Amino acid sequence: MRIRVGHLYPDYLNIYADRGNIAVLAERARARGHELDVRAIGMREEVPAGEIDLFYVGGGQDREQALVAQDLVAKAASLHSAVENGAAFLAVCGGYQLLGRSYKDVAGKELPGIGLLPLVTVAGQRRMIGDVLLDCEWAGETLAGFENHAGRTILDEGAEPLGRVLSGFGNDGASGYEGCRYKRVYGTYLHGPLLPRNPWFADRVLADALAHAGGPTDLEPLADDLERVAHEVSAERARSRGGRF
Ligand code: GLN
Repeated sequence: MRIRVGHLYPDYLNIYADRGNIAVLAERARARGHELDVRAIGMREEVPAGEIDLFYVGGGQDREQALVAQDLVAKAASLHSAVENGAAFLAVCGGYQLLGRSYKDVAGKELPGIGLLPLVTVAGQRRMIGDVLLDCEWAGETLAGFENHAGRTILDEGAEPLGRVLSGFGNDGASGYEGCRYKRVYGTYLHGPLLPRNPWFADRVLADALAHAGGPTDLEPLADDLERVAHEVSAERARSRGGRF
């Protein structure tokens, strides 16, 4: 199968090499005989809604977020319709914040979001930095990663988080939850090596994209020896020195 990926603003939102996640998806797809067809969707470019199986947006600082926010709002209707029609979406940190309804930065300036996820974010004075370990009960798995954000993300009542925080800060350092899930959309603060360290999650995102593409969603298991070690090292780091105020 050809899995069509729409990478939003790769030139602006790619902090901590978030685009590495795409390389993992490409490799894991290839190992199962599928091909990832990645196209960039930049400023003022139209979202080819029906033609994308998986959208991806990385993180960025307030400055980059401010540069893309209005443009993303112009793409909101197409993105909403793509998601309602079953497209998958993975959004990291700054991109995750912009999928909510709004993001207010430390200076009090409010950026509009696209309301694809039921949440708002307000920046606080202290950054939340460190290793994170999450329990994703919905999948019976854990996610290990690294967070660095000033934004406190508040989920609406009844919204589904991505996971429960075992170590680290998560959405706001208080609720005990991290990230948000809606249909095939996943938003998270976990950066850069999110998918390399969490192969089950990479396969989940791939299977969601394949479901939209109309392909077989059962992915034969890969060896994942290195990936398991990477996960364990990262999880242990979070357990021993996860983010603390
Ligand atoms: N500007 C956001 C924050 O600090 C996002 C940062 C990021 O993507 N690392 O909350």
